[in-house]
Amino acid sequence: MEISVLKFGGSSVASATNMSRVLDLVEMEARERRVILVSSAISGCTDALLNAGPDSLLEMEKRHRDIVTRLFTGADRTRVQALVDALFTELRQAPADEQVTYGEILSTTILCEKLKAEGCRTVWLDSRDLVVKDNEKETYRRIRQAVDAADAHVLVAPGFICREESGKVSTLGRGGSDYSAALYAAAVKASSLQIWTDVPGIMTANPRQVSRARSIPRMSYTAAREMASHGAKVLYAPTVAPAMEAGIAIEIRNTFAPEGGKTVISSDVTGERNVGLASQQKGSVVEICLVGSRNVPAVEQALTEAGIGPLRLWEEGGNVLLTVRPAVEGSALKALHRAFFETLPLQQIYLFVAGYGAVGKALVQLVRQASSTVEARTGKTLRIGGLADSRRFSIDLSGAPADPSEEGDFVDRVCAVAPRGSVFVDCTDSKTLYQRYAQLFAAGLNVVSSNRRSFAVPYADYAALHAAARENGAFLRYETTVGSALPILDSIARGANSCDEILSLEAVVSCTLNQILGDYRPGGESLASLVRKARTAGLTEPDPRVDLGGEDALRKLLILAREAGVKLEAGQVKIDPVVPETILEGSLDAFFEKLESYEPSFAAACRQAEQQGFRRRFVASLEKTEEGYRAGIGLKNVPPVHPAYHLSGTENAIIIRSTFHPYPLVIQGPGEGARDAASSILNDILR
Ligand code: ADP
Ligand code: ASP
Ligand code: MG
Repeated sequence: MEISVLKFGGSSVASATNMSRVLDLVEMEARERRVILVSSAISGCTDALLNAGPDSLLEMEKRHRDIVTRLFTGADRTRVQALVDALFTELRQAPADEQVTYGEILSTTILCEKLKAEGCRTVWLDSRDLVVKDNEKETYRRIRQAVDAADAHVLVAPGFICREESGKVSTLGRGGSDYSAALYAAAVKASSLQIWTDVPGIMTANPRQVSRARSIPRMSYTAAREMASHGAKVLYAPTVAPAMEAGIAIEIRNTFAPEGGKTVISSDVTGERNVGLASQQKGSVVEICLVGSRNVPAVEQALTEAGIGPLRLWEEGGNVLLTVRPAVEGSALKALHRAFFETLPLQQIYLFVAGYGAVGKALVQLVRQASSTVEARTGKTLRIGGLADSRRFSIDLSGAPADPSEEGDFVDRVCAVAPRGSVFVDCTDSKTLYQRYAQLFAAGLNVVSSNRRSFAVPYADYAALHAAARENGAFLRYETTVGSALPILDSIARGANSCDEILSLEAVVSCTLNQILGDYRPGGESLASLVRKARTAGLTEPDPRVDLGGEDALRKLLILAREAGVKLEAGQVKIDPVVPETILEGSLDAFFEKLESYEPSFAAACRQAEQQGFRRRFVASLEKTEEGYRAGIGLKNVPPVHPAYHLSGTENAIIIRSTFHPYPLVIQGPGEGARDAASSILNDILR
C-alpha cells in the first residue's frame, strides 16, 4: 500500500483546536493510504525546554495538560493525562541536554493517543531508535523495518529527535522535523511528502516581513534549498536532499487554509529566475539573498531608489547577495520585493536592441527623442538597456549604452541582467535568432521583432514561438514585418480572433517591386537598370533576387496567412518570379547580364498589359477555395478599379475580403523606411 508522510510544524499542533484540525487532515489522507504522521513540538516548547527554568517548564506542563483536557474525555483523559505526567517526570530527571527532545515526544504521544481513542489502528514510532544521526543508510534500514513490522494504518513519529552512533540521544538541529519527515519518506519510498505549516507554501519573501509576498506554486529542489539555506525558515535546508534523491516531490501547505496556496517542489521545474527573497542574521549584519538572479545592477538600482546603501553586494552561485545593517532589513526587503515581484504603477521598460543597422539606429534615436511624450501619454518610461550588432554588444541599465564593443553572447547577457518585463527587439536579419526567443521569454522578457525571417519558419516552429511566449506570460509582436508601420497584422489578427474568416487576401507589399514596377516604362529605363538603382539606394535586399524571386513576398505571405489562422507552409505557395528562374540563377553579375538580355520580353509583356488598360503588380494572395486555402505569388495585371492600380513609389496595399464584410478592407500607405519601421516597433512595445 502506498504511504504518505505528513509533517506538522509547531503552530499546527499548538492547541487542542489545532491538533483536531491536524487529525482531520490525517484521517482524510488515511482514507486513501497508510500515513506516517511526523510532528514538531507544540509551538514555543523547544525554546522553553532549551532554557528550562522551572517556570517555563511548569507553563509547558500546563499547556500540555490543557490540550489533553480539551481533547479527551472520561477514562481516555485520565489515561493520557497519566502518560503526560510520566513524561514530565522523565523529562525532569533526564540529562539537561536531552530535555529538549521531550517536546516532540509529548506532542506525538498526545496525537497518537487521540487517533487510537478514535478507533484508528495507530502505533507510535520512537525516532530515537530509528533515526541515526549522520547515517541515512542505517536510518532508512531501521525505518523500513519498523514500518514493515508495524500492524497499524497510521504511524506517529516525533520529528527533530534522533540518536547518535554512540547511543546518545540527540537532535537534527533547529527546524529539524522537516528533515525527519524527509527521512521517513525516503526510507519507505513514500508517494507523497507533505509539510504542513502556518503559511501557504514557500513565498516570494517571508510574509511577516513583506506583506505583499505571495506563494510560489512550483519550484525546483535546487531553488527550494537555496531559499532554505539563505534563511527562509519555512523549510529546513537538509530536508531537500533525501526527497530529491528518492525522487519524491515535497508539498508545502498551510494547515490553516488547506485549499489555499501551496508550493510543490520537484525536478519538473527548470530555468527559474527571480525565485524569492530570503534573509538571515550573520554576526552583526543581515544577509539578504535574491535567489535565482545574477542581476546585481538591478538590485543596486532598486536599493538606490529606496535610499538604501548595502554594506556589500555581490553575485554568488546564481544568486545576488547583499548585507545591510539590521535596522534597514525590512525596508531593503520591501524595496527588492517591489522591484522584482510586484508590478509597478509607473512602468519602466528596458529595451535590448539586437541589430544596430538602419532600423536599430532609428529606433534608438526615436526612443531618445520621444521618451518624454511617451511617458506623458502612457505612463511608461523607456530605457535603452543594451545594443548589439552582429558581433558585439554593450549593456548599460542606466539607459545610455555606448556603441557595441563587448564580445560575447548578447542574449545570454540580456537574460542575466534584464529586469522582468523588459523588451528584446530583434531588428536583425538573422535566420537563427528566433531560436533564442524562448530563452528570452523564460527569462521574463518580451520580444518585438522586425525580422520577418523569424516568422517564416516552418509552421510548427512559428506556433512554438507563440506557445513559449504564452507560457511565460510574455508578448511577441512583429507588426513591422509586413507593411512596416501599416496596421496590417493587428487588423488581421483581430478579425481572426473574433471569428471573422478570411475569404481572400491580396498583398502588394514588396516596396522594392512596387517602386521598380511603378517606375518601369517599356522602352524607357531598363528593368536591370532600375533594379541596380534600387539596390544602390538600399531599397532591395542585399541580393535583389530575394525580392525578384518572390522570397521576400513569400515570407510576408506566410506571416499574413498565419496571422489569419491559416497554417500555411512555404511549400504550399506557388511562386511565379518577376523574371524566369533561369535568369535568377548563377552569380550576381551573371544575373544582371541575363536581366539585360531579358529586357525585350519583359517590355513586351508590359506593353501588352498597358494596351489592355492594366498595370502590372507583384501580388501575394491567399484565397479560400472548396479544397482549402490556395496561396500564390506572382505578377498580376490589375485593372484601374483595383486598389493596387494607383500605388506609387514604395507604397503598400493589402486587400482583405472576409465573411463579415461585403466590401473589402483596404489598408494602404507607406510601407518603407527605417523611421517608419522604428515607429512601428515602438508601437508594438507600447501596445
Ligand atoms: P513550522 O513550525 O511549521 O515548521 P516554521 O516557523 O519553521 O514553521 O516556518 C514557517 C515560517 O517561516 C512562517 O511562519 C514564516 O514566517 C517563515 N518564513 C520565512 N521565509 C518564508 C518564505 N519565503 N515563505 C514562507 N514563509 C517564510
Ligand atoms: N521543534 C524543533 C524546533 O523548534 C524542530 C521543528 O519544529 O522542526 O526547532
Ligand atoms: Mg519549521
